[in-house]
Amino acid sequence: EKGRDRFVGSTPQEVLQSVFGYPDFRSLQAQAVTGIMDGQDTLVLMPTGGGKSICYQIPALCRAGMGLVVSPLIALMDDQVAGLRQLGINAAALHSELENEEASKIRADLAAGRIDLLYVSPERLLSPGTLDRLTRQPISVIAIDEAHCISAWGHEFRPEYRELAALPRHFPGVPRIALTATADQRTRDDILTALDMPHARVLISSFHRPNLNIAALPKASELRQLTTVLERHKEEACIVYCGSRARTERIAASLRERGWTALAFHAGLSPIEKRAALLRFRSGEPIVIVATVAFGMGIDRPDVRAVIHLDMPASPEAYYQQIGRAGRDGLPSDTVLLYGGEDMARARYWLEQSNAPDSEKRIMRSRLEAMIALTETTGCRTQALLHCFGETLSEPCGHCDNCRHPVITFDGTESARKFLSAVYRTGQHYGALHIIAVLRGKRTDAVERNRHDTLSVWEIGKDKPEPFWRSVVRQLIARGALKSEGQYGGLALNNEIARPILRGEESIQLRADATAELEKGNTSRS
Ligand code: ADP
Ligand code: ZN
Repeated sequence: EKGRDRFVGSTPQEVLQSVFGYPDFRSLQAQAVTGIMDGQDTLVLMPTGGGKSICYQIPALCRAGMGLVVSPLIALMDDQVAGLRQLGINAAALHSELENEEASKIRADLAAGRIDLLYVSPERLLSPGTLDRLTRQPISVIAIDEAHCISAWGHEFRPEYRELAALPRHFPGVPRIALTATADQRTRDDILTALDMPHARVLISSFHRPNLNIAALPKASELRQLTTVLERHKEEACIVYCGSRARTERIAASLRERGWTALAFHAGLSPIEKRAALLRFRSGEPIVIVATVAFGMGIDRPDVRAVIHLDMPASPEAYYQQIGRAGRDGLPSDTVLLYGGEDMARARYWLEQSNAPDSEKRIMRSRLEAMIALTETTGCRTQALLHCFGETLSEPCGHCDNCRHPVITFDGTESARKFLSAVYRTGQHYGALHIIAVLRGKRTDAVERNRHDTLSVWEIGKDKPEPFWRSVVRQLIARGALKSEGQYGGLALNNEIARPILRGEESIQLRADATAELEKGNTSRS
């Protein structure tokens, strides 16, 4: 029997266990679910990974009618739908990227009352045809995900979200739940006003995880940096995140050669391989899982002692969720992010190349820039991370890398000008290594072939070692003075930011990377 209202009559607790397989609600979830079951409008502020979806999924099933979920990001919708279908829930997503065939299948299912939960983009929901179809359905709850998109105050404003104010008119008496991971007061007020739910119950969870020791350092010798962190956690469980499947395989193999028990985990594994990896991870043995973001669902090992990123995540949200898999038991745990300028430039380049709609690109761009700023921050990292979610930590945490070893900055104007000139003089399509070779007067094949040893910038940076220049490039990329010129990592000037520096109109402070420590991957320099 797969009728839509098959869970009506079961308690939320029963559905949580029988459908989702979790023994208990987290405390905020229980409050949200109880309120919605009673028809109460609710605003939930919870970090990514905190368990927001359960707050509306369970009432959607336990109340009569279909659950409606407004979501601004197609990729997120598709992930949610796939996850729910695996649990035997009839979920579907209506958005602009659907094939005609899929869309008509969903319309048929809708008309027949077969859908438990429908995800829909805001513009789609309020289009006359869809609205007409949906208002003919009994609706159990309306969830507005990423509700901060309604606020023009934030960086992720979506004008279509404003139209959601009309929801109560179209769906009178249906309880609404707005959810977001951005929690500052201004955004919160905007959401309540724009959705016209002044009496909503507001549930806020803190994002602070005081047992996480956050550190981030520029990539130098990646594998050495990685093993140095792992050495501190020899008999324990660690997760290493990489940006691609191939990289997880390669890194896991290198670790095994060096005597570690390491397994790769990514979406390309067969179901049997995945299950085997998860079983070993959960067994409690010391193990290093080298994974893509596919390693996330069902990670419930409480004693993960370190999460290491070899590639920069695309947003503070993703980063927070991934480091959050460390130290669930509340004991001190390490998180180390290795980052590099090329990675930043490449991430920006691919984002611009993607054919996501502009409105989505804008959201992803602001998240990526926030992530880049987080890696380069010279202040307390815990404060900076919480700040991304609108939470203020009044004192520096005292245990992140920047707190323990205050960052030294220096006037980098002259060095920045030398580097930017060299990019300009060589024609704006060479990678960082070539530019550094020119600055340091190193005669490589490419230098000789292009006669770059005849340029005015030849050898003008000889007095500084290569790691110094790598650090300068990275920070120039992070500031946006340099950008990727194509997919091969060639660098070009971003005139708006680079010109004033080149002309000497702007001086810049750079952070001095502790280069000797980078080689060792040492984050606890005591
Ligand atoms: P969010 O939407 O806030 O980012 P999700 O709803 O995706 O978070 O949930 C994050 C993770 O927490 C998921 O892996 C989910 O399976 C797990 N989770 C959620 N609620 C519970 C619970 N009550 N007990 C155990 N795990 C849970
Ligand atoms: Zn700190």
